Amino acid sequence: MTDCVFCRIIARQHAADIEYEDDAVLAFKDIYPKAPVHLLIVPKRHIASVMALAPGDAEVVGRCVLAAKSLGEAKGFAERGYRLRLNCGPEGGQVVYHLHVHFLAGTRPSGV
Ligand code: AMP
Ligand code: ZN
Repeated sequence: MTDCVFCRIIARQHAADIEYEDDAVLAFKDIYPKAPVHLLIVPKRHIASVMALAPGDAEVVGRCVLAAKSLGEAKGFAERGYRLRLNCGPEGGQVVYHLHVHFLAGTRPSGV
């Protein structure tokens, strides 16, 4: 039993609305959406944060971005676009310490 909620979602021990899965990556709806479409794209292997990345993690991070591209196409945002966001550590606003890419679409964000 892990105390990481995203590992529990990956193991199907915690409910989530799963939108995409492949051998390395899972994507599911954010429980508190901040945009009309708000997904979290996570590596299936636990990596705590960008600060914990090792050179060997490059492929899985790239796979997360490619999953975002696939989701953008599947959800009709390939032309309109979307925002990908990684919150990194305490001052980056990271709350869940399992690396995740926020996929935010359907709104035009202001600012950075
Ligand atoms: P961050 O601040 O970048 O760590 O973002 C964590 C995100 O995870 C937040 O947007 C939360 O709403 C979301 N979240 C936390 N728990 C769950 C959960 N069980 N299922 C789906 N999303 C979650
Ligand atoms: Zn985890």
